[in-house]
Amino acid sequence: MNEFVETLLDLQWHEPKSTYDVVIIGGGGHGLATAYYLATRHGITNVAVVEANYIGSGNSGRNTTIIRANYGIPESVRFYQHSLDLYSTLEEETGCWIMHATKGLLWLAHTETAMRSERARCLLNTACGAETVMVDPQAAKAICPQLDLSGGGRYPVLGASHHVGAATARHDRVVWAYAQGAMRMGVHVLQNTQVTGLLRDGERVTGVQTANGNISAGVVLSAVGGNVTTIANHAELRLPVRTHPLQAFVTNGYAQSLGPIISDTELFCYVSQTARGQMLIGAEFDPQPSYSTQSSFNFLQSCTSKVTHLLPFLKNLRILRQWTGICDVSADFSPIIGHTGVDGLLITTGWGTWGFKAIPAGGSLMAELIATGKTPPLLEPFGLDRFASDQALADQGSTGTR
Ligand SMILES: Cc1cc2nc3c(=O)[nH]c(=O)nc-3n(C[C@H](O)[C@H](O)[C@H](O)COP(=O)(O)OP(=O)(O)OC[C@H]3O[C@@H](n4cnc5c(N)ncnc54)[C@H](O)[C@@H]3O)c2cc1C
Repeated sequence: MNEFVETLLDLQWHEPKSTYDVVIIGGGGHGLATAYYLATRHGITNVAVVEANYIGSGNSGRNTTIIRANYGIPESVRFYQHSLDLYSTLEEETGCWIMHATKGLLWLAHTETAMRSERARCLLNTACGAETVMVDPQAAKAICPQLDLSGGGRYPVLGASHHVGAATARHDRVVWAYAQGAMRMGVHVLQNTQVTGLLRDGERVTGVQTANGNISAGVVLSAVGGNVTTIANHAELRLPVRTHPLQAFVTNGYAQSLGPIISDTELFCYVSQTARGQMLIGAEFDPQPSYSTQSSFNFLQSCTSKVTHLLPFLKNLRILRQWTGICDVSADFSPIIGHTGVDGLLITTGWGTWGFKAIPAGGSLMAELIATGKTPPLLEPFGLDRFASDQALADQGSTGTR
């Protein structure tokens, strides 16, 4: 966060204390939203968010900002629709302009197999409260006139599912809105404070070790994105999570004209237009697990080739910037939220390439769990224990590119 932003926002920095009721490791969207809802919904304000770098320096400030609920299993559709609903009122609630814009999302299909998947998605989404309808190629073209229905003669569009409520919001503004709301209520946000270990009393986790000293806590929540394995190791906890890099890029600005978000589960790529006019383009995560944030030319080459077949006007644009984040991808592509089996340690992870949209729901439900000690029904399916009881929630479509 730069000084200009700090002066725009009402961020009240505090001296760290040696003990808190709740310590949250990680000042990304999930950590800050949990702190915000603990304070605003449950009156729990003796809370510290401990961030190694600056808030939003992880994936919450690096993502492609897509918010949607068109998932492939009932548990996820209900959870993400709840998040979509919370996003739509977040500006009103926090008084911060997060640049929320409902755009709709076209999920293109090029084969009969994909058409069957999309028809099934529409039925499931409708049954679970998310608005998704099948459209034929002409209707898709009416929604997005720039679409080449022949896919450059190579990827003809047979149809699409249209997820009407899909939206975007400015990612770092979401982080700042939650930080400001939480700090106003007295939550401490400690930047440049890396957690290097966990304090233990026997089996129980009782706080965190940081480069600036130890901090005791009634409850510790790990919300560290792609670094989750390191924190879990401190509690001898082995998680079904691997860290994969995910890349994205933006073009130069262009007249505002691309209405919906365009996504393609067969070509593994997606495009939306930012408020600045740039085309924001992403793909699926790199197959090799890694903590590297190095961007690659291979990604650019393959992604640009595919998106220009679908939206030929992109050929005239220039690539302005490319970047990478490291994503906590769970074994079944669904999040892992709740108890860890280690007393005093909770976790919110497995957000992979899809966790920005989940920030309001993930934060508010985690806060409810911490405050009441009871797992809210929407969170129940997403516990870590599902892997041991063979109740994994496989949904590769959660990536948005499969
Ligand atoms: C290129 C890209 C595009 C994406 N596009 C989308 C999208 O369109 N829609 C969507 O829903 N999701 C998307 N995602 C995924 C989404 O950004 C993440 O799932 C989400 O931001 C995770 O939030 P978080 O709070 O869990 O983690 P983060 O935002 O990564 O925050 C974790 C924080 O923990 C801190 N931390 C780590 N280790 C320590 C430590 N030891 N001590 C203290 N602090 C520590 C980090 O510095 C970081 O600030 C994308 C991700 C990337 C990389």
